[in-house]
Amino acid sequence: MEDNYRHKGLRKKLLDILRQKGIKNETVLAAMDRVPRHWFMDTAFLNFAYEDKAFPIGAGQTISQPYTVAFQTDLLDLKKGEKVLEVGTGSGYQTCVLVEMGVKVFSIERQRELYQKTKKLLEEMNYRPRLFYGDGYAGLPAFEPFDKIIVTAGAPYVPPALIDQLKPGGRLVIPVGQNIQEMMLIKKGENGETERETFGEFRFVPLLEDKENGE
Ligand code: SAH
Repeated sequence: MEDNYRHKGLRKKLLDILRQKGIKNETVLAAMDRVPRHWFMDTAFLNFAYEDKAFPIGAGQTISQPYTVAFQTDLLDLKKGEKVLEVGTGSGYQTCVLVEMGVKVFSIERQRELYQKTKKLLEEMNYRPRLFYGDGYAGLPAFEPFDKIIVTAGAPYVPPALIDQLKPGGRLVIPVGQNIQEMMLIKKGENGETERETFGEFRFVPLLEDKENGE
């Protein structure tokens, strides 16, 4: 897989666009600079890889918009070595940005084909997050608790299992809503109490509850 000067140059331009749009976290931008986004897209769409847009990746799913990836990663307030759960592996792009932030990543995807395709792709790229095929509504009980949890699909409500699997002092970043989502940051206090803050509207593909539909 190639990552040439043209790709690197396009990536720098994309990062400047994200700065102009208000992303200030240079650690997050540096992590995004290290992930060749074009590797996650079909070669036919190479020219779109460095536009600040979401893009279809097959199976009715999308690779998240770079601005959204930057915004959510920033809200997580990651510290190196933390244990992070991602719900909605999809293309694996956000997953790799998390790996580049120096955290231990556990990611769940509900579509088996997408899970298998992404697992193979990330191995080829030498990224080694722990990937799981399963339902994000249930979280990952065998590996809890997590310092941080990120959901990359639009959730009709906040799945209680995700709050349960968060460490005291942890953060959950989740877009909540049916057609349009509101980005929500949920902080869990030392005594398990939660505090919610919202950060404007975003659009995601839906977090699906029934595994039998849509596959
Ligand atoms: N983080 C991804 C975004 C993918 S879109 C990226 O950067 O490419 C959201 C993903 O969530 C889709 O792949 C979809 O199949 C998955 N998804 C939807 N409902 C889910 C559920 N209940 N559990 C786990 N994954 C789910």
